[in-house]
This record gives sequence, C-alpha cells and structure tokens, in this order.
Amino acid sequence: MSLSASATPKITDYDLLEKLGSGSYATVYKAKHRQSSTYHAIKCVLKSSLSNTSTDNLVTEIKLLKSLKNKFIVGLDDFFWDDKKIYIVLEYCNAGNLSNFIKSKKALPESTCKYFLRQLAIAVQYMRSNDISHFDLKPQNLLLTRTANNVLLKVADFGFAQHLKLGEINFTLKGSPLYMAPEIISKQQYDATADLWSIGVILYECLFGKAPYSSKTIDELLFKIRNHERIAIPSNTRISDDCHDFLARLLQHNPKKRITFQEFFEHNFLDLKTFPTDGVGILGYKNVYFIFI
Ligand code: ADP
Ligand code: MG
Repeated sequence: MSLSASATPKITDYDLLEKLGSGSYATVYKAKHRQSSTYHAIKCVLKSSLSNTSTDNLVTEIKLLKSLKNKFIVGLDDFFWDDKKIYIVLEYCNAGNLSNFIKSKKALPESTCKYFLRQLAIAVQYMRSNDISHFDLKPQNLLLTRTANNVLLKVADFGFAQHLKLGEINFTLKGSPLYMAPEIISKQQYDATADLWSIGVILYECLFGKAPYSSKTIDELLFKIRNHERIAIPSNTRISDDCHDFLARLLQHNPKKRITFQEFFEHNFLDLKTFPTDGVGILGYKNVYFIFI
C-alpha cells in the first residue's frame, strides 16, 4: 500500500503541484512522489475542520476505498496523517471531472452519454456486489482519465458512501440536493436505490446540460423535489426510445416504482452484454471517438 521506502509515509515524500479542486471538506492537489516520480492526487483534510460526523465519513471513505479495486473506481494509493491534516493519496485522474466536461461541451451527444453511463454502471455493479452505496453520485464526483486511445470514467469521493445491503433503510441526510433522490429530502428515509435516481439526474445533465431540477435558490429546488414536479424532457433534443425509457424509469419519484438494479444492468440503453470484459477498446462504442479529439 505505501509508496514510501520508510515505514511511515509523510507529506514531505511528495512535491505538491497545482490545486485540482476542493469540495465540502477537502482540498485536492496534484502531487509527484519524489522517489518514484509517480503522479497522484492528494486529498488534504484539515483535522480541525472536522466534526465528529465528518471524521466518521472520512474514515468510512478510506476504509471503502481500500477495499474497492475496479477500473472505474478511483484507486487509493496511500493514506497517512500529521498533527494538522489527514492525507488520502489517490490515483491521479488527468482529465478533470464530468461536470467540467459537460460544461465545456454544453451537452453531450447520446452516444457519449451512453459511453460514460456504461462505465458508471460497471462501477455500480461492482459496488453492489460489495453491498456498497455511494449516496453522492454527481458529475463532480465522476473523474476522467485520458489514455492514449480512450477516456475512462472513475467514481470518486466516497465520503458519504457506506455499506448498505439492498432493502436496508438509512435515516441520515446525505448527498447534494440537486442529485438527491426525493425520498431523501421528503422522508429522510432511503435505501440503495437512491443512487439510481442520482444516475438518472447525471444522465439528464449529460444529455441536456442541466439537472432536471436546476433552480436559482435552494428553496425553489426543495419545493420542486418535495412536490414531485414533473420532469420535462427538452423538446429540442432528440433522444432514442431506449434512452427515454431508461431516463424515465431512473427518475421515478417513488422508489418502489423506480427501475431495480437488475433491470438497470439489463437495460437496452446500457447494452452491458456487449461491454468488453477485458477492458480493451471500450471507447469503440459506436462513433464516440470524435468528441475527445
Ligand atoms: P470533496 O469530498 O471535498 O467533494 P472530492 O474527492 O470530490 O472532494 O474532490 C474534489 C475535486 O477535486 C473533484 O471534483 C475533482 O475535480 C478533484 N479531484 C479529486 N480527486 C481527484 C483525483 N484522484 N484526480 C484528479 N482530480 C481529483
Ligand atoms: Mg466531491
């Protein structure tokens, strides 16, 4: 696990380079390991900024990341702390996150959405097989890595994730309101299927450039979610019947009527049967090369 030759890894083993991003309780830097010359992303968390709940979330994140090993989940390379900070050394993703990618393109063609959703689905399938829910799936937490001939999507930020078996119910308020399933907002009671709603919101944002309940204020957003406001599909963008069906079944307000995980993995839109298990040529999916050039 440790990259360090010495027994205790420390932050001085790295040259900290540019800031990659910051989120709710962390700042993330690109870093180069001095000895091995490898690049990483280091998530630095100020200990003093942590409430007891945040500390718990962070410890959960680290434990989860350690146990998760999948091509579509950001890898944990190391972990250590000093007096002031906790450092999580992650696999470096060199092409930003999906949120910036969508913004730079305004909206993505359906084939590109499918390309990303297939990778997300494989990550979720792996998480489900380990009884893990994420509960904060959103474009900012989906990182991109560009390789010589393809772009990989990697699920990151497991700060809110936890072990939750299908059917178990959770009572704490987690996630980001724009992507949060309605049952989390209105009943504060939810299960693993809340992630499926978030995936619906992500797909919607990929296709149309904004989240279905994008609002000017948090009150407006909460009002729309609580009242199950109808989600309109913009009429100026043509999407296939499979895509429409998939989106409608993910964005089901009632979690009991929402698509199940099994139906999700088997849906025609994802067409996972044709997903190459050797990981070779995943970009070969129906003419999506052009968007990355
Ligand atoms: P927070 O828990 O504070 O939201 P995240 O883990 O989501 O922190 O990271 C915040 C941002 O930092 C991400 O949206 C992304 O832009 C950047 N980032 C995080 N991890 C990496 C990584 N492994 N490689 C590249 N960029 C990263
Ligand atoms: Mg985040």
